[in-house]
Amino acid sequence: MLLDPYKRRINYLRISITDRCNLRCRYCMPEEGIPLIPHESLLTYEEILRIVRLFAMEGISKVRITGGEPLVRKGMVSLVAQLAQIKGINDLSLTTNGVLLKELAADLKRAGLKRVNISLDSLRRDRFCQITRRDDYERVWEGIVEALSVGLSPIKINMVAIQGLNDDEIEPFARLTLHLPLTVRYIEYMPSGNGEEWREGDVLTIPQIKSRLEKMGKLIPMQGDQKDGPALRFRLEGAIGEIGLIGAVSTHFCADCNRLRLTPDGKIRTCLFSDEEIDLREILRKGGTDRDLKEKLYAALQTKPERHLINTHRFKKCQRNMSAIGG
Ligand code: SAM
Repeated sequence: MLLDPYKRRINYLRISITDRCNLRCRYCMPEEGIPLIPHESLLTYEEILRIVRLFAMEGISKVRITGGEPLVRKGMVSLVAQLAQIKGINDLSLTTNGVLLKELAADLKRAGLKRVNISLDSLRRDRFCQITRRDDYERVWEGIVEALSVGLSPIKINMVAIQGLNDDEIEPFARLTLHLPLTVRYIEYMPSGNGEEWREGDVLTIPQIKSRLEKMGKLIPMQGDQKDGPALRFRLEGAIGEIGLIGAVSTHFCADCNRLRLTPDGKIRTCLFSDEEIDLREILRKGGTDRDLKEKLYAALQTKPERHLINTHRFKKCQRNMSAIGG
């Protein structure tokens, strides 16, 4: 079992397999993109698989593939197939913007993927274009429909709620759960990503969102389970889908944090908001042994902060863009 200095059990690895993305969401990336990690610095699939096999032996049992946009990396279905075979990994999931999901959902399901999170911040095509700077709304919807039809489950739709941008879409998103077996999750806008854009006043807080949802009908709390992570779960009375609320800014879920992150260039990050990184790539490429890699894993665990510092005077925005960490 992997324990950090605060006795938290760490069993979840989020792997960003690329920093490339086919959208340019305003709050995440500038229009021209960000300087890309050179191809030769990206971990190969073999390197990723070696790390996951080793970490699984130590206690990692959950893996999420993210990015950048993970579906843009060539051969990622075969990575999924191989991750799904690793002994000890009993929860394999994916976070995607959905643009390429229509084409890949069936293959991903066959490869062993069970569930998927799809990021979607607007249900209006014009606004989707405005936020993402790409005209791909229809493709994302087709991706969601395909994911439902091939039986990926649960399908979670992650909506980052931002004042003045999409705050009028809280209710339309919640209404999706009335008729579709989707989990709609509202995520507080966090201070990371594109330049100096973030303002505290832009955050639509989870208490604000919850009080809006309560006006739509009875909001029935649901039991959390280990797979929910930091989400508070609810169901609108009569709905077939669910609602999740995730507040990184207004609430603190660090006490239950069970995560490590692996960046596309092979660094372990122990907190989304800390720039402390432990390099595995160098060990991998200089002939390091499995034991060397495990030692780094345990060294990384020791650096996991007790909590992030958002809302404190010590908070500093992290250096890496979200797309190069894996949100
Ligand atoms: N491309 C994939 C996707 O769109 O889901 C995976 C990577 S993306 C960086 C992961 C998630 O991070 C997306 O849901 C995105 O909306 C979210 N994200 C990016 N910047 C954020 C911010 N400043 N606050 C909250 N969420 C953010």
